[in-house]
Amino acid sequence: MMPDLFKTIAFRLTLWYAGIFSVSSCVAFALFYFLATQTLQEQTDRDLLEKARYFSTVIQRNGIMGASKLAVIEAQAAGEKRIFFRLLYPNGEVFASSHMSYWKDISIDQGAINTLARTKGHVFMTWLITPNDQKARVLYSFVADNVILQTGVAMDFQSKFISAFKTVFIVSMGFIIIFSAVSGLFLSKKALSGVKAITRTANSITGANLEERVPQTGNQDELDLLAVTFNRMLDRIEALIKSIREMSDNIAHDLKSPLTRIRGFAEIALVNMDEIDTYRGMAANTIEESDRLLDMINTMLVISRAESGEGQFLYKPVDLSAMVQEACDLFVPVAEDKQIQFTCEVADYIEIEADAKMLQRAFSNLLDNALKYTREKGRVHVRLERESNGTAQILITDTGPGIDPKYFEKIFERFYRAESSRTSPGTGLGLSFARTVARQHKGDLTVASQLGKGTVFTMRLPYRNTQII
Ligand code: ADP
Repeated sequence: MMPDLFKTIAFRLTLWYAGIFSVSSCVAFALFYFLATQTLQEQTDRDLLEKARYFSTVIQRNGIMGASKLAVIEAQAAGEKRIFFRLLYPNGEVFASSHMSYWKDISIDQGAINTLARTKGHVFMTWLITPNDQKARVLYSFVADNVILQTGVAMDFQSKFISAFKTVFIVSMGFIIIFSAVSGLFLSKKALSGVKAITRTANSITGANLEERVPQTGNQDELDLLAVTFNRMLDRIEALIKSIREMSDNIAHDLKSPLTRIRGFAEIALVNMDEIDTYRGMAANTIEESDRLLDMINTMLVISRAESGEGQFLYKPVDLSAMVQEACDLFVPVAEDKQIQFTCEVADYIEIEADAKMLQRAFSNLLDNALKYTREKGRVHVRLERESNGTAQILITDTGPGIDPKYFEKIFERFYRAESSRTSPGTGLGLSFARTVARQHKGDLTVASQLGKGTVFTMRLPYRNTQII
């Protein structure tokens, strides 16, 4: 799938890069232009003031006639198209001037004279000489008590500067836009190459191929972290899909045996058509197997509902001590059958808030396992005790075959049954159910074991908001 070029991040980044680069260049150019014209104007103003001071000295020394001559000589020396001088009385009447044919547009500004009379300083103005759009800077200044000098200079240097500046600006901006677009494209392509790798990997992943991973550069930048996170997510998905596959295999396997048995009963019943007792026996067996199936399905539902946070547990104050003792009493006949030395040590009056039914089932599963996996004449010991941190602890210790530490987590998975246990009856749901119940009560179920020596299952349950009576 090819993305629309104009929608790609690379295109948008390039556009942003070129835009920002060009705008900042324009700002820099504008700033430079402003500062340069400002400095040039200040220099012009300083020159005009200098001329006014000179005229003032000449008037003091040589009188008005001297100044009149100076106006002509100075303008000729600098160029009559470059500068002009007019000497006037405060009422605006001109009494001497340089050659003014080029400057005839520039009149006497009465407003400027009035301002000058008020401030006794000097007044600057900028004029536009219409025929050739040339600007002129004009100064009004008192050079003697009753004599005002009006002098102006052509600002041709400024128009030259502007046209030179325009050329430089256009050429530079062309370069800047091309350069920034190319470098922006290069940078964004480089920065986004990691994203492409992730997209490629994501596209190549299918249900049958989950091993693919994004190559990591190891330089710890954002894209590398994204690749690491993406790979971790893939690891989790792979593990999840694996466990779902394993689980569905196990479910299929566990459902197959009772269904095959039910079918067998029906077949026998069909063959022995006329014996009513056979019918009865087969019906009873079918009910028993169906109950087992239903029980399995119900347990599965409880576990998955609890895991998805929809567990419908009913919490009420429960006398844990009495509950454990009762469960132990129930299993005494089983222990006696196997000549197992079965002892139960229960601390008095431990009350917790719990779902009694669920807890009973979970605890029975643990006791059932301990007695099931311990060989004849072995030992099983149950202890209920208080922990100092506000929890009750139930330990079920047996002298059974023990569990290899590498299966400590596996045994709590749904439908997991150790190879060696396949001969004993069971569904592989007991421990998974017991741990789910313990965790629903904000507690936990853990295992410690030594192969050949025995196993200890520890169930910790907080009292929650009830106290020890
Ligand atoms: P089931 O007992 O029905 O197989 P469980 O979920 O109760 O299923 O137990 C899972 C596995 O853990 C068992 O198949 C068995 O291999 C192992 N296991 C459980 N309890 C014990 C125990 N007390 N001693 C040794 N192995 C045990």
